[in-house]
Formats: sequence, C-alpha cells, structure tokens
Amino acid sequence: MGTVVDQAKKSEVNGKSLAEKNVTVVFVLGGPGSGKGTQCTNIVETFGFTHLSAGDLLRAEIKSGSENGTMIQNMIKEGKIVPSEVTIKLLQKAMLEDANNKFLIDGFPRNEENRAAFELVTGISPAFVLFFDCPEAEMERRLLGRNQGREDDNIDTIRKRFKVFLESSLPVIEYYDSLGKVRKINAAKPVDEVFEDVKSVFTTI
Ligand code: UDP
Ligand code: MG
Repeated sequence: MGTVVDQAKKSEVNGKSLAEKNVTVVFVLGGPGSGKGTQCTNIVETFGFTHLSAGDLLRAEIKSGSENGTMIQNMIKEGKIVPSEVTIKLLQKAMLEDANNKFLIDGFPRNEENRAAFELVTGISPAFVLFFDCPEAEMERRLLGRNQGREDDNIDTIRKRFKVFLESSLPVIEYYDSLGKVRKINAAKPVDEVFEDVKSVFTTI
C-alpha cells in the first residue's frame, strides 16, 4: 500500500483515529451555486448534523498561512480541484475533532480520484448522496448576485467551475447513482421549498 495512504490511515487526533469513530457521512453535491451551503445550514438546525464544507476548509487553510496556502489559492482562482491528499486531510481532521458522528460533507468528492481516495483512506462510504440539481443559468445568476467577496465568483472562473463540474464531478454522482445512493433534489426553487424536499429525504433515512 502506498505511503500516502498508510500515513493518512494512521492519522490520529488525541490518540483517536477515524476508524474507531462510527461516523455517518452524507455527501452534498451539486454545481456551484446550486444551494449546497444554504441547505446544509438548514439540515444542521433540523437534523443535528455537523456541516463540513470542503471549500470553506480550503479557504480557512489559505487564511491560516499554511505552506499549501498559495497552491490552494491558485487552484481555487482557476476553478481547479485541489489534490485529494490536501482536502482529505482537512476533512479527516475536522471529523476527528468534532464530538458529533453525523457529518454533511459539502462540495466533496469533486472527481473520481477524490472519491476513491476518500473511501480508501478513511474506510467511509456515504450513507447517501444529496444531489442538488439546478440549471446552469440559475446557478450563474445566484453566483453573480451573492457578493460574498469570493475570488472565484467572477464570470471567467464561474465558467471554468461549470466545466469542471460537468466533466469531473457529475461522474461521481453517476457512480453513486449506480449504487442506488443518490437522492436528487430539484434545486431551482425558492430555499424553503427546496428544504421541504430535503426534509423528506432525511426523515426517511
Ligand atoms: N475545491 C476543491 N476541492 C474540494 C472542494 C473545493 O478543490 O473538495 C475548490 C475548487 O477550486 C472549487 C472551490 O474550491 O472550485 C470552491 O468550492 P466550493 O465548494 O466552496 O464552491 P462551489 O463551487 O461548490 O460553489
Ligand atoms: Mg459552498
């Protein structure tokens, strides 16, 4: 087995490894601007999950002045996918440090390599995948209107993110769909209407 995998499997916080913690993970996927973050906030309030946004963890890593910061910043600006090793380490650490054992992982895995590496390194397969399906024009409108000061919410980067989503992230959703694990939500509606549909998914776990 490769050293990266060995090392990651051994990674511990306070003497505990992720394998010893019995965690439930739901992957929350969908294109940029499909409403993943907004709906995760609602799910946390109603169903007691901890929300882990891979993008937020990466942005915090840039801010912390980590040695990977500049590389991560450049990839995000280009809409590219950060190497699995970096993102998985951040997710593992966040899951270990939190007392909860129910996690929403938002915006990850973004490609097949992310997915396979996560499953191999953590030994975790998701309970299911919540997929927010939204037309590109609507996602573009939301991203351009949200003004969160994000360096990647400009039209050039948005186009690149859409392309990466179609080419790299949709295959992940198709993979889990082939296992019967995808719960698809029509995300083109107002927030509270979308949440009604989300609620019915979580109440039938
Ligand atoms: N990103 C990444 N790996 C991840 C999650 C995010 O490389 O697992 C990077 C990628 O460059 C992406 C950006 O972070 O375009 C923003 O991701 P986020 O999920 O915050 O935003 P979204 O595009 O889903 O609105
Ligand atoms: Mg987000």
